[in-house]
Amino acid sequence: MPATERLYYQDSRLLEFDARVISLSELDDGQIAVTLDRTAFYPTGGGQPSDTGTLGEARVVDCIDAENEGVLHVIQGPAPEMGDTVHGKIDWLRRLDHLQQHTGQHILSAAFVQLFDAATLSFRVLEHECEIDVALEDPSDERIEQAVDLANQIIWESRPISVRQVTSAEAATLPLRKEPARAGELRVIEIADFDLTPCGGTHARSTGEVGVITLRSWERAKGLTRIHFMAGVRAVADYRKANQTAREVAALFSAGREDTPALVARLVEENKKVRRRVGELEQVACRVEAEELIQQARINSPRAGSTGDTGATVIATVFDDRSADSLKHLALALISHPNTVALLGSRDGNTARLVFARSTDAADDMNVLMRKACEVIDGRGGGKPDMAQGGGKNISALDDAMHAAAQDLSNS
Ligand SMILES: [Zn+2]
Repeated sequence: MPATERLYYQDSRLLEFDARVISLSELDDGQIAVTLDRTAFYPTGGGQPSDTGTLGEARVVDCIDAENEGVLHVIQGPAPEMGDTVHGKIDWLRRLDHLQQHTGQHILSAAFVQLFDAATLSFRVLEHECEIDVALEDPSDERIEQAVDLANQIIWESRPISVRQVTSAEAATLPLRKEPARAGELRVIEIADFDLTPCGGTHARSTGEVGVITLRSWERAKGLTRIHFMAGVRAVADYRKANQTAREVAALFSAGREDTPALVARLVEENKKVRRRVGELEQVACRVEAEELIQQARINSPRAGSTGDTGATVIATVFDDRSADSLKHLALALISHPNTVALLGSRDGNTARLVFARSTDAADDMNVLMRKACEVIDGRGGGKPDMAQGGGKNISALDDAMHAAAQDLSNS
């Protein structure tokens, strides 16, 4: 005889009940678990999460199925005493949600069997959506939506759902959709003229209570087809969110919701072309910029590059919001000039970027300078003696790193 009588077997709408405390225990994590002689709380199992609610003054945060040991109600708050009679109350919205997802799964799984002879091998109610793994060959949007359509048809016919207890001998004569997981007397859930399956969960009284089933997405997983769906209140909440997203995108284009995929595709295509063109123009701009920087450097340091002086023209500059690619383009434009060293930095968002380069006829090892500079900016980098790149998180140390690199050059 199991320790706890499961009231939810008889009535999935029973939300309040009185019961006697038959044991109290402490779980490994220190939480208190209460066992009752009867309960309407559904414990986690069969892919369905547990109910929550209240037990006297305490919150029931989880329920664990300990089989013949009963249902453990994990509570937070004042614990009752052994032998106390307590009043239990189930959170209805959570129960309704689970009942819709779970019953919806029975209907959808039966639809896959009826249409494609494709069995459901596992089921999970997750936080946002539900998953079934179906042995569906040749999955496609069309085939899966066909099953969803049939499931919704069954929902809107509001067919009665009944529970009956059968012996294993009786069960053997019934066209059950799946093999019973346990021996002995079975609880069989019947959706009138549609599905007959053994199950210990909480179900709707008629298919109409499920409201609607929607397909979210699907993918192949381990030889099966994993289908992400939602039923009832979840499907409505998801529609609201999806619709809001679609409307926000449409508003950006001042267009209708249905026109946005084509408009976004065109924008992405245009953006690719524009980026390509910007890249080309940037190289042109970098050549002009390089000329100006070199002129400026020669004015600031007139001896550099003049006859009889071996010192290179050094360009050391820190920019704002310049990408690594852009720094590199400028560096290449600079070192196309003879005897030139480019020490370039950028505060690019949260990253400090560095590109050090020199013309083939200049001295100094850029790789060595870069490694030292990257230590200063808490980053990583390196390269070859004539060109090195790096980046780091310490943007405030970028000026120090640049200054030290320039010092090292002039000291050499
Ligand atoms: Zn069920």
